[in-house]
Amino acid sequence: MRKLMYLALLGILLSQGNLSAQEFTRQDTLRGSVTPERAWWDLVYYDLDIQVDPDARTIAGKNTIYYTVLSPKQVMQIDLQEPMEIEAFVQDGKKLTYIREGNVYFVQLEKNQRIGDLNALEVSYGGVPVVSTNPPWSGGITWSTDSNGKPFIANSNQGDGASLWWPCKDHMYDEPDSMQISVRVPQPLMNISNGRLRKVVEHPDNTRTFQWYVDNPINNYGVNISIADYAQFGEIYQGEKGPLTLDYFVLRENLEKAKEHFKDAPKMMRAFEYWFGPYPFYEDGFKLIEVPYLGMEHQSAVTYGNKYQKGYLGKDFSGTGWGMTFDYIIIHEAGHEWFANNITYKDIADMWIHESFTTYSEGLFVDYHYGKQAGNEYLIGARQVIQNDKPIIGIYDLNQRGSGDMYFKGANILHTLRHWINDDEKWRQMLRLMNREFYHSTTTTQEVENFLIRESGLPLGPFFDQYLRTADIPTLEWKTENGKLAYRWTETVEGFYMPIRLVQEETIHTLHVLNEWQVTDRVDPQVPFELDPNMYIFEKNTR
Ligand SMILES: [Zn+2]
Repeated sequence: MRKLMYLALLGILLSQGNLSAQEFTRQDTLRGSVTPERAWWDLVYYDLDIQVDPDARTIAGKNTIYYTVLSPKQVMQIDLQEPMEIEAFVQDGKKLTYIREGNVYFVQLEKNQRIGDLNALEVSYGGVPVVSTNPPWSGGITWSTDSNGKPFIANSNQGDGASLWWPCKDHMYDEPDSMQISVRVPQPLMNISNGRLRKVVEHPDNTRTFQWYVDNPINNYGVNISIADYAQFGEIYQGEKGPLTLDYFVLRENLEKAKEHFKDAPKMMRAFEYWFGPYPFYEDGFKLIEVPYLGMEHQSAVTYGNKYQKGYLGKDFSGTGWGMTFDYIIIHEAGHEWFANNITYKDIADMWIHESFTTYSEGLFVDYHYGKQAGNEYLIGARQVIQNDKPIIGIYDLNQRGSGDMYFKGANILHTLRHWINDDEKWRQMLRLMNREFYHSTTTTQEVENFLIRESGLPLGPFFDQYLRTADIPTLEWKTENGKLAYRWTETVEGFYMPIRLVQEETIHTLHVLNEWQVTDRVDPQVPFELDPNMYIFEKNTR
């Protein structure tokens, strides 16, 4: 019961990835794969310019898409989900024709697309976007109000896609190098988006346009609009790359609470810069923005709705108490700045790259502030929510994520790896190097695996096959054979190898365990011993 309660809290049962293979449609393929109509052009810049009308609950405006031509094709795929509608595609002043297939528009370009050219396509659109029924897990817009009755509006669209509310290349493999986001809203509302505020333009009809500029590549689900009558405060954080602005936007009614509660933000920055290297978006600053849902890792504009409580809405996944030493949403969502926004999956099947490293970062936050033993306890305790129901990696090219175990099991896979490597400084330098080597890029499981294999110097191929591609947990089977300890791995993939430390009478022994039985006379099977609890494995005594 408890386990189920926690899972429901985490919302990870709500992934819409439970279709069997034959139920996938052409729309899934168009959404989830790098189609020929996407592959030939490379995103350079989005200039998104929209008006949000809280009364009519509409969004309308224009996105100008700048791109370079990689190969000379004339048909371009642009995504915008129903019921939103494209009004026109225009290139060089000429209105273009298109063929529509559900949420996808195939635009027929007239101008010759020559390799290397920088071109722009203006897409004007509008409509009543889908309302999220369960933000942030179901995509859409949330139209809420604050306690003064003023509009309190936000977007959430990971998985379902940014094309729920604006037209774009809705696939994660390609990001623009930078982006401008202009949002017009009625007075006295503000719109907070990603990056830095360039200007505010006042219009005669009692509306204002907030123009934000993102100076770095940004993934499309990270693009943020948060609209409310916000109060604002902030601080300058002295970080690894110099002064960094931390800006906070909260409902007026919560300002005093937030000033106390958001002290977790600089604590977060201190711990994560230590473990992962400099915050990846100094140019864009860091913001926490209150929203009417739990939270999301919108790049440089982390949204917050944990109700100013410690833990996850006041709960501790680990059951150890360490989860109550921090605000889960501030720590977790900000951890995504390194793993999701800096290092981004190309395909949502590889979402563990975001969630496993970020959930693991919670343990490193505890480790940094309360010591290694505390961090260990937090991650080990959180195993109570692991399900081992299906593989962590999802299905490629169909926009299908894998098991919700990508959170706490994924964190424990990395925790296990740290303890296999057994050299904390080396491990920290690996995590820092990873953030430099994959800086501002999109990537795959294979590339991450290759990096970890190269940097650790360990034969981790079967280790990742086991933990990411099956739902089975390596089980250390042991028995007494002629008075000696015999041991092997079971429930493992072919070639699985991982050493295990065990403690017997205060002596630490390392066993190099394989799938085949081995025997040692260093450990007496008649005397109690303890396996290293940091390794996420099962144990079976078949004596
Ligand atoms: Zn997350």
